[in-house]
Parts: sequence; C-alpha cells; structure tokens
Amino acid sequence: MFNSEQFSHLYIEDKARDYLLTLDIQKKFPTAKIVNIKHYKDVFSSYKNNFRVQKKSQKIILAKKESGFLYPIGKFIQNQGKNNFYYSSMVLNCIYDCEYCFLQGMHQSSHIVIFVNTDDFFDEIKKKLKEVSDIFVSISYDSDLLALEKITNLISLWIDFANNHDNLSLEIRTKSNNFKSISHLYNKNTLLNFSLSPEHIIQNYEHKTSSLKQRINSINNAMSLKWKVAIVIDPILDIKNAITIYQEFIIYLMQNINFNHIDSVIVGTFRMSSKYLKIIQKTNLKSDLLYYPYEVKDKMVSYPQNTHTKLVECVKSEILKHNKNMKIYEVSDDD
Ligand code: SF4
Repeated sequence: MFNSEQFSHLYIEDKARDYLLTLDIQKKFPTAKIVNIKHYKDVFSSYKNNFRVQKKSQKIILAKKESGFLYPIGKFIQNQGKNNFYYSSMVLNCIYDCEYCFLQGMHQSSHIVIFVNTDDFFDEIKKKLKEVSDIFVSISYDSDLLALEKITNLISLWIDFANNHDNLSLEIRTKSNNFKSISHLYNKNTLLNFSLSPEHIIQNYEHKTSSLKQRINSINNAMSLKWKVAIVIDPILDIKNAITIYQEFIIYLMQNINFNHIDSVIVGTFRMSSKYLKIIQKTNLKSDLLYYPYEVKDKMVSYPQNTHTKLVECVKSEILKHNKNMKIYEVSDDD
C-alpha cells in the first residue's frame, strides 16, 4: 500500500511537466527528489540499468507517450470470447514482483513509468469506436493498475471515460486487495479480473502481492456491490505436488466465493517469450521457474503439451465438479 515516502525520486520528462496528472502525483510525494529529464528513455532504457537492482528501490518516471495508445491483444492473453479486444498501457512496470512476470525480460529497467497524457489514450479509443461497434480494452496489462490507484487515479479516469461510452468495456486485471479505492466507481461494462493462486504460490513466487484471503475479500466486496468479477488462474505452475495443491485451492475458493456470481474463469499455464526468459536468466534471479525444461515453439517457452493439459484439466474439472455451468476460458499454446 502506498505511503508518501515510498518513492525517493520522481523523474519528470520535460514534455510531461505541465500535465495535471504530473502535478497530482508530485503532490503525493512531497519529500521525493525531482529529477528533470529530456526523455523518459534516457533513464528507462539506459544500458546501465539492472532490473533486479532497481526493483529494490523503484523510482517513478512521469512521461508523455507519443504513439502506441492502443494495441490488439497478443496471443499470450485469452480473448475471453470478445471481438475487438485491445490493451492499453498507461503504466509500464509493477510494484509487485512475481517471479514468472514477463516484464522482467521486456524492460531493462524496473522503474515505474506513468504516461500522464491520458487524453491522447482516450482520443485513440474514440477514433477506434468510430470504426467498430464496440471494443473491450484491457487497461492493466503491463502493470497492476489497482495496486497503483492511490498514486495514479488512472482506473478512476478510465471508468469516468467508460461511463460516457456505452460501447467501451474495460478489463482490470489485479492481484491487489485495493478494491476499496474504486468501490464507489461501479460501471456495468467494467470487468474486474482477480488473479488468484494457491497461498503457497503467492508466498513463494508472487512477492509483495496481497494474500489469497485479502484478494478473496476484495472479490466478495466487489460482488456485493454488483461489480462484474472474473477469476484468473494463470499461470498454473508445475510445482511439486501441483495437482494436490491446485485441487485443494479450488475447493478453498468454492468454500469462500459464491461462484454463482462469478462471470467466468480464465485458466492457463506458464508461458513466456523465449527471448524474455533468456534475459531473465541472465539477471541471475535464482528462481526454479526459470530453469524448468520448457518446450520452445514459435519463439515461446511453455510446458510440454501433456503437462499443460494435465494442469489445466485438473483445475477445470475441479471447478466443474462444484459448478457445472461455470464459463471457463482456456489460454492454450495454440492461441
Ligand atoms: S502482478 Fe502482474 S504485472 Fe505485476 S509483477 Fe506480478 S505478473 Fe507482473
């Protein structure tokens, strides 16, 4: 959770300086050292960066994004049966530190970049809405926006925008228990996708994230306020005793969440670009996840097909045993 001394430095790009969001964020960190920079990549993409070293003391970079406000969803994400599924990244990097996270291989820096020219993102969506009848946008793809909401207020801005565009639906993926900061913002077209894992996995691999109990509390609070909620069990990890751990996990979820009110469940197993995996291995992170004998296909690493199927089927069948009508979307290697 955020406190005003959490970030010792704010790097502010020249072009970002006068934006409202820049001024708002600056106010939240009155003791932070302000460093003015010409371009965010001067800091973010410097060859001297070390993702893991910076992770111990992340800084905030406020920048103006010049292009690339909306992207079609890639094959790593299940499209949840939606047409016109896009993602948008107002923030790069995350305050959490999951050992399986692709961001470690994608960016040289783990500092958090916040793009403050939000209207440019919204203008792009307005343009897209003139071309197609409706769109579904994942807004928390390269970060966990709910975890940062007290700093950025970005979810609030997105939902305000969605309130004026009935044909825009939003997806917010999170491992945060910070639902209370958006609980008053209900929007019928916004789907909260809570990522859940067995507590054993949270403790060992999803560092700094909320506990399973806290996430479940957020889910139950959100559903009590009529929010549309989905559950993401992805990546399922092939750890020791995985089948037993995941079976017990699903039973625990069934006991603590009313699945009749859950919109859907998304399941998938570990996968990553092979390029990112190699980069992460070089950063010397001593995670067993990085040294699994993965299969490489189309520049992507994943579990062998039989392992993928075994893990996904275990989770799916356990869910369907308790709730046979549950809508389950599966991320497959062939997506
Ligand atoms: S919560 Fe998501 S974005 Fe953040 S570190 Fe974990 S996997 Fe990465």
